[in-house]
Amino acid sequence: MATIRRLRKVLIANRGEIAVRVLRALRELEITSAVVYSEADRAGLPVLLADEAYCIGPAASAESYLRGQAIVDLACRIGADGVHPGYGFLSENAEFAGQCEQAGVAFIGPPSSAIEIMGSKVRSRQRMVAAGVPVVPGGVEPVPDPESAAAGARELGYPVMLKASAGGGGKGMRLVRNDRELPAAFRAATSEAKSSFGDGSVYLEKYVERPRHVEIQVLGDQHGKVVSLGERECSLQRRHQKVVEEAPSLAVGPELRRRMGEAAVRAASAVGYWSAGTVEFLLASSGDFYFLEMNTRLQVEHPVTEMVTGIDLVIAQLQIAEGAALGPEFDDVEPRGHAVEVRLYAEDPYHGFAPSPGRIRFLRLPEGPGVRNDCGVLEGDEVTIHYDPMLSKLIVWGRDRPEALRRLGRALRELRVEGIRTTAPLYLDLLRDPDFLAARLDIGLLDRKLASGELRRAEVAVDPAETTGTGDPGETEDPMAADVPMIAAALAYRDACARFESAPTRSESGSVDERSRWRRAGRLGGLRPER
Ligand code: ADP
Repeated sequence: MATIRRLRKVLIANRGEIAVRVLRALRELEITSAVVYSEADRAGLPVLLADEAYCIGPAASAESYLRGQAIVDLACRIGADGVHPGYGFLSENAEFAGQCEQAGVAFIGPPSSAIEIMGSKVRSRQRMVAAGVPVVPGGVEPVPDPESAAAGARELGYPVMLKASAGGGGKGMRLVRNDRELPAAFRAATSEAKSSFGDGSVYLEKYVERPRHVEIQVLGDQHGKVVSLGERECSLQRRHQKVVEEAPSLAVGPELRRRMGEAAVRAASAVGYWSAGTVEFLLASSGDFYFLEMNTRLQVEHPVTEMVTGIDLVIAQLQIAEGAALGPEFDDVEPRGHAVEVRLYAEDPYHGFAPSPGRIRFLRLPEGPGVRNDCGVLEGDEVTIHYDPMLSKLIVWGRDRPEALRRLGRALRELRVEGIRTTAPLYLDLLRDPDFLAARLDIGLLDRKLASGELRRAEVAVDPAETTGTGDPGETEDPMAADVPMIAAALAYRDACARFESAPTRSESGSVDERSRWRRAGRLGGLRPER
């Protein structure tokens, strides 16, 4: 039994909402928090909230958030005993996890060996087949050329998917419906895979028609115990990327939940997994389910599981990293009520999801019963094109799905974002869509509806000042007139920001060894690293 090694200081190697999310967990555990930030994020919310903040380079991710060795060196220099990678960036980088391990800094995630295996679609499929986890029918080796791909596709039966062995983020993936389409699809998938991952190899999978995307949240400890915390329904996707997630799935009853949970636990155990992870499945209309991949990190959509299980997944990750064992309270966890998450992107959903960078002139987040915001921005922030455009996640909980959806509608009408466009209007439209309301979902549903134009409300009248986030006509008036306490709070906040702005953000020498301005200002003191 591994001994408990208390974390005293954790460095967060991320930005935006997930950095804030991890900060909150650290604060609850009374662990000192440190964040890295790029020059573009120097006035960002994580820097304001963290006990310590360190600039690690210019805006471009490759020169800042992706500098693995520099981040490990920084962790050592500041005496951090753990690094939390969040999601994206270095979170699924086995080399980075290995560098942390070698430096004696706890990587708040799984062992690097598990990341390595699950990072390859081909190798993970091989491992899953060996472990008796159902995978999508198809190959377990890359196909070397279009001719062998065509032979394999005929054997599987069209339609098929060509997928990058090293895949991720939907890159290097092509649907092929017949022999004629295959050579061009092979070339496209191979070259996209090569440019995205430096590895052009692709393999074949049977294309599952109109499946749901259902994934299982697992937790594993360092003593060999792995548990399932139930499923999330992530079928509402745009171009294979999730947009709305919920838990539980209306397509999953207790028996299927048990079987999918068992398969997910087998999958994770097969690679010696610990920490939080997600096993993704395609659920066919027949009720058969197939392993798609395992995400060896915290997912964007983890809050819906937290809302229906009451388990704080980031706190669990931290305690597991300390060596804690998963107790009986993690066994047979059943979902309570229903939770839905929508991702608020700085994009215009009705103009091809065009990026909408700019300054957030006004921001009002919804509150009230059953509403949670995991937000990474502040009013006054500049949304740049350097990073993922997700600003915030709105999560609602209700005793059942209809109640959760009513709350979602209410919360979306309370939300107000000015200065940039967001995807909020799309979610209000979805709340009037009969298929979404009836949970008749599949992974292509949203794309089909967007293509046909049927989602868009006739009265999506966005005012010329680029106000978004609300469909309530009463909300298009001057917000300043609407909410006097809000104005006072905004002004006080602006004053506080001005004070911070006047403080230097880098030390004279330009070194990274810099204390957070928030900490120096003594505004959020009180955390004692020693426990
Ligand atoms: P990536 O890792 O690049 O995101 P995934 O394997 O996770 O790729 O697949 C992403 C999405 O693509 C899935 O959620 C699903 O919508 C679709 N997809 C992937 N494989 C198949 C398949 N064999 N049949 C049908 N849809 C698929």
